[in-house]
Amino acid sequence: MELIFATHNQNKVKEIRPLLPKKMILLSLNDIDFHDTIAETEKTIQGNSLLKAKTIQLSVNKNCFADDTGLEVKYLDGAPGVHSARYSGENPSDSKNIEKLLLEMHNVEERSAQFRTVITLLIGNETHFFEGIIKGKIALAPKGTSGFGYDSVFIADGYEKTFAEITLEEKNKISHRAQAFNKMIDFLKVLPF
Ligand code: IMP
Repeated sequence: MELIFATHNQNKVKEIRPLLPKKMILLSLNDIDFHDTIAETEKTIQGNSLLKAKTIQLSVNKNCFADDTGLEVKYLDGAPGVHSARYSGENPSDSKNIEKLLLEMHNVEERSAQFRTVITLLIGNETHFFEGIIKGKIALAPKGTSGFGYDSVFIADGYEKTFAEITLEEKNKISHRAQAFNKMIDFLKVLPF
């Protein structure tokens, strides 16, 4: 079965491909020559996830899914949340976002945070949502070079290393996105095709 992953982020495609059953063919937006940026204009993570999936379904009329993720920091009342990608403002970058976050958290003891992913699967005429959450804390300084986004400042509960210091295989066992994806895969496995 062919499934389109409504993302331009090759890191995500790389993370997800090994989790899928072999009978599923994962196509990214690059694979289907869709190069437009989908503006994430909704106010919630679920809203943006749905918006991205709907945009692709309307464009190519195929089964597809999209994910949206936010880093929710307790001390910041859930920020950056749905604004995680653009936290540092115009022309954001991972390093600028992290810099802003660490500044906001300067001398703050309460460092609890979580990543939350919502996947929207549009299959046939149906819409399904799958959520994954990983709880942890914000590190005092960035550490590690693998991964992307806020990986270098996020330490999952039960770990001492940041997501950027552990391997992709380790991250895939516990991450927010992997949890949401595994729920979607369990759902897809019982479909009669
Ligand atoms: P997106 O909407 O799923 O692309 O995620 C929004 C933002 O959250 C990204 O631009 C990253 O900054 C951050 N993010 C999403 N997933 C991860 C992750 O697995 N690790 C670190 N940061 C992430």
